[in-house]
Amino acid sequence: MVHFVGAGPGAPDLITLRGAELLKAADVVIYAGSLVNPALLELAEPECAIFNSAEMTLEEVLAVMFQAEAEGKAVVRLHTGDPCLYGAIREQMDALDEKGIPYDDTPGVSSFCGAAAALGAEFTLPGVSQSVIITRLAGRTPVPEAERLASLAGHGASMALFLSAGMLGQVQAELLQGAYTSDTPAALVYKATWPDEKVVRCTVGTLEEAGVREGIHKTALVLVGGFLGGTYERSRLYDPSFTTEFRKGTS
Ligand code: SAH
Repeated sequence: MVHFVGAGPGAPDLITLRGAELLKAADVVIYAGSLVNPALLELAEPECAIFNSAEMTLEEVLAVMFQAEAEGKAVVRLHTGDPCLYGAIREQMDALDEKGIPYDDTPGVSSFCGAAAALGAEFTLPGVSQSVIITRLAGRTPVPEAERLASLAGHGASMALFLSAGMLGQVQAELLQGAYTSDTPAALVYKATWPDEKVVRCTVGTLEEAGVREGIHKTALVLVGGFLGGTYERSRLYDPSFTTEFRKGTS
C-alpha cells in the first residue's frame, strides 16, 4: 500500500495527525527533499528506509514503490504542502493503478494557507474578492494559453502564485496588464512556517524590486490582491441583524 501524504508547508507540527501516524508506521518513505522539512523524517522508525525524490526520476520513485509493495511494506510518499497542488501525484497514481497497487491520499496544509497565516490575511474578504486564483507563470512546465497570467489577472481576484518567485519582473508586468494597478497590495512569503520564514509586504508595482532587495527568488509565494489592503465589508453571517439556521437576528 502506498500512502500519499501532505507534509504541510514546513513547520513539522503542521502535518495532520493521520499523516504523522502513517509516517510512524512506514517501512519506506519517499520525500520531496527540496521542500519537505527533514525534521518530519524523525517520526519514522530508525529502520525505515528513506529516499529523497529530489534526486530521483519518476521511474526510480516507482521502482522503489513496486519493490516495497512486492515485499509487503508500507510506503509513505511525502509531498510538500498538499499533494494536490503541483505535486505530480497523478502520474504516480496512474502507474500504481496499472500494477493494481492500492494507495490513498492524506491532505496537508498547502503553503498558500501557510502564507496567508503568516500575513494574518483572509483571501475571501466581502466587498473585495470571493475567489482565489491559484496559478503560476510558465517555466519549464508550460501553462495553457487560456490561463496566461495577464489574462487571469483580468479578474482582479485574490491570487496566490506558486513556482514564480524567480520571475518577479514578468509576474509584475503580466499582473499590470490585468485589473491590478501598481498600487494593488502584494506580498512575498518566503518559506512560510519555517524558522527562516520571511514576509515582505509590497505592491504589484514594487514586486520585482522587493524580491531583489530581500534576495527572494525561490521557495516563495507571491500573493496579490485587495485582500492584503485595509478596506473590506464586515461579514453578513456574523451581523447582529442576520438570521441563520443557528441564530435569530435582531430586526
Ligand atoms: N504542494 C505544494 C506546492 C508545491 S510546488 C503546496 O501545496 O504548497 C512548490 C512551490 O510551492 C514553491 O516554488 C513555492 O512557490 C511554494 N511553496 C512551497 N512551500 C512553501 C513555503 N513554505 N513557503 C512559501 N512557498 C512555498
